[in-house]
Amino acid sequence: MMRLKYNKASFLTALIFSFTAVLLQFLLLAFVFKLAFASYGLILLLEFFGFFIGAYLILSYTLERFLFSRVKELYASVIPTTSYVSTISQFTDIDLLTSNLKKLNSDKNLEIDLLKKEQAYRREFIGNIAHELKTPLFMIEGYVLTLLEGGVEDKKTIKKYLSQTAKGIDRLNFVIKDLDLITKFESGMAKLNWTSFNIIETIKNVFELVARQAQERKISLKMDKVYNKPIQVYADEERIQQVLTNLIINSLKYGIERGTTEVGVEILKENKILVRITDNGEGINEEHLPRLFERFYRVDKTRNRNQGGSGLGLAIVKHIIEAHHEKIFVESEARVGSEFSFSLTLDQKSAL
Ligand code: ADP
Repeated sequence: MMRLKYNKASFLTALIFSFTAVLLQFLLLAFVFKLAFASYGLILLLEFFGFFIGAYLILSYTLERFLFSRVKELYASVIPTTSYVSTISQFTDIDLLTSNLKKLNSDKNLEIDLLKKEQAYRREFIGNIAHELKTPLFMIEGYVLTLLEGGVEDKKTIKKYLSQTAKGIDRLNFVIKDLDLITKFESGMAKLNWTSFNIIETIKNVFELVARQAQERKISLKMDKVYNKPIQVYADEERIQQVLTNLIINSLKYGIERGTTEVGVEILKENKILVRITDNGEGINEEHLPRLFERFYRVDKTRNRNQGGSGLGLAIVKHIIEAHHEKIFVESEARVGSEFSFSLTLDQKSAL
């Protein structure tokens, strides 16, 4: 049901209409019937108010209906039929329509802000990719062109240039592989292969994979204690192995020579465990921690690129953990060390 409220246009029109009607009536009475105003004054006054109220009600109702039907037409043409505020038949009141349009407007503004942010994010991402690819590409180009010019005859130098070129290609491969993986996760295309596996075994496998790097950095890789029994978790083994590899390799890259990387597994609550990777390396200043898992975020922008990371390692780790509906944590102190930890779900049959 439509509510009638003060409406300036209707009010003025009703006023003019009533005034004119009563005036005409007065003139008719005074001149045609030669009657004095005094004898009909009160009746004319009451008539005036009667006319006024009647005219006002009719006018304001008609005006509101007219506006309502126009706004409804506009509303139907502006709002997509799939929108949650699209069922115009449910609106019988112009106020409700207006408040819905206002809500829609503020939602649209939010959407536009989000799109702008995403656009800026994408631009930055593409810029970062170009930057990441440029470095090895220039290196490859430099060596290949020098060799093509034919000035280098010494076999040793040729071999050195070729091995540098191979390193550049490896690096390109590495960055592209990480980009591919992160895109799969961000577009929801990465599927997890859920199985039950012994996390202690997986940690030991990763230790073997990175043993050479640990030796080169003279860092000792160990478990925090002896785990005699298997700890069966339910997750995607290959992905979790990748998480462990990325975190352990980071602990070696940013660890100190003759330092230690220690991995431990502890029970969080009845069906959850926490895997911790602790190092006594260079650590991270607190100000960097909130952005650490962002794509291409680096604490030291110059040094790390030389160490071969794609800047995507931690972003990939976070995606994998979140795809498992688990959590990742970091605690770190500059010049003291870092601890990265993540939760996993125990396989029901597991016994610790
Ligand atoms: P990168 O390829 O640069 O290693 P990551 O995403 O793996 O990319 O890491 C992001 C940044 O986080 C690194 O550049 C480094 O500054 C910091 N970082 C990661 N792990 C550690 C660690 N164990 N100790 C100190 N700094 C770390």
